[in-house]
Amino acid sequence: MKIHEYQAKELLSKEGAAIPLGIPVNTPGEAVAAFDKLGGKPVVLKCQIHAGGRGKGRFKDSGKDFGGVKYLTRREDILPVAEVMFRFPLVTAQTGPLGQKVSKVLVQSAADIAREIYLGVVLDRASGMPVMMACAEGGVEIEELARTHPEKILKTAISPEAGLQPFQARKMAFALGFTPEQAPHAESIMMALAKVFLEKDCSLAEINPLVVTPTGEVVALDAKITFDDNGLFRHPELESLRDLTEENPAEVRAAKAGLSFVQMDGNIGCLVNGAGLAMSTMDIIKHHGGEPANFLDVGGGANKDQATEAFRILLADTKVKAVLVNIFGGIMKCDTIAQAILAAYKEVGFHVPLVVRLEGTNVQEGKKILSESGLKIITADGLTEAAKKVVAAAG
Ligand code: ADP
Ligand code: MG
Repeated sequence: MKIHEYQAKELLSKEGAAIPLGIPVNTPGEAVAAFDKLGGKPVVLKCQIHAGGRGKGRFKDSGKDFGGVKYLTRREDILPVAEVMFRFPLVTAQTGPLGQKVSKVLVQSAADIAREIYLGVVLDRASGMPVMMACAEGGVEIEELARTHPEKILKTAISPEAGLQPFQARKMAFALGFTPEQAPHAESIMMALAKVFLEKDCSLAEINPLVVTPTGEVVALDAKITFDDNGLFRHPELESLRDLTEENPAEVRAAKAGLSFVQMDGNIGCLVNGAGLAMSTMDIIKHHGGEPANFLDVGGGANKDQATEAFRILLADTKVKAVLVNIFGGIMKCDTIAQAILAAYKEVGFHVPLVVRLEGTNVQEGKKILSESGLKIITADGLTEAAKKVVAAAG
């Protein structure tokens, strides 16, 4: 689960990280009021969307040449800029070509910047531990730098039990070139970032940029936090931070039904049970020249209602030109899926060809239900046959 910059900063600030003053607003008019409340001094208007790269983004079809992070000094400029931000979708390297609608803007006191530093904590799968990464050259070019000069990224592993140790933060601060006066401030921000990462079960916690001002203050100007969905049940307090308008509606709907749905770009809908089978189903579809539109994993123990909802979600996607049902019945029984197909057919109707491959528990019962139903279903026995048939059906 992702949250907005202003929410991430609140969490970090509670742990003692220095952040600039800021007011999240919902309308252009509120942005002007926030400018006044912050003392009429220079501010940065920052679009709150879950995608990154906002500074370098552009507002779709607006004809304007500024992005989702805009530095402004004059009161009369706030309203027109905020109006563009709330009106046009913001397209960044991470949003896709349609962009993302902005419903909140953070009006933040502008900082004078002497240096920009990157600071982040992620899970390092190689060592099986959280790792703090830092780079003396942070800011909007960090992805490029990580590609071209990976040796410039400093790393230190964090013990999941003991947390980041003060000596580790100190070493990192000096390696990043902080002066003895600045180092303690940088260290407390590092400790806050590591603490939030561990305590809230994050998969990512990032400050980019962490800046040093000309007077030597150290401040977190941007923050990004992603929580591991598998840990969310331990943090009911985080539920209120969720912004469903930022999430894929089909994925939200699937999650509500206890299904896992992943949106992709092709035209073949895949209904499978188990993530491993989903991966091999997509591989074999691609191998035979097709492109998956999504995969919907009904899991090991889905019931008839869940399976029916799964079909509704798949068929609601207008990009889907054919559906492949690939079920290996274990705990999930083939006759349950067959019944779900009938139920979904009655309820929503199939406007696209449906290829079904069933194997495993109760496969004979499942096939019998389908053949006796009189529905127009293309059946297949093997995975290769199923893939070839669905690719042909999708055109
Ligand atoms: P994103 O990473 O989505 O582009 P950031 O919040 O990092 O958004 O903003 C992009 C750049 O804008 C930063 O690297 C920084 O140079 C500048 N910036 C952001 N917030 C402020 C601020 N409060 N004062 C001055 N400059 C800022
Ligand atoms: Mg940033």
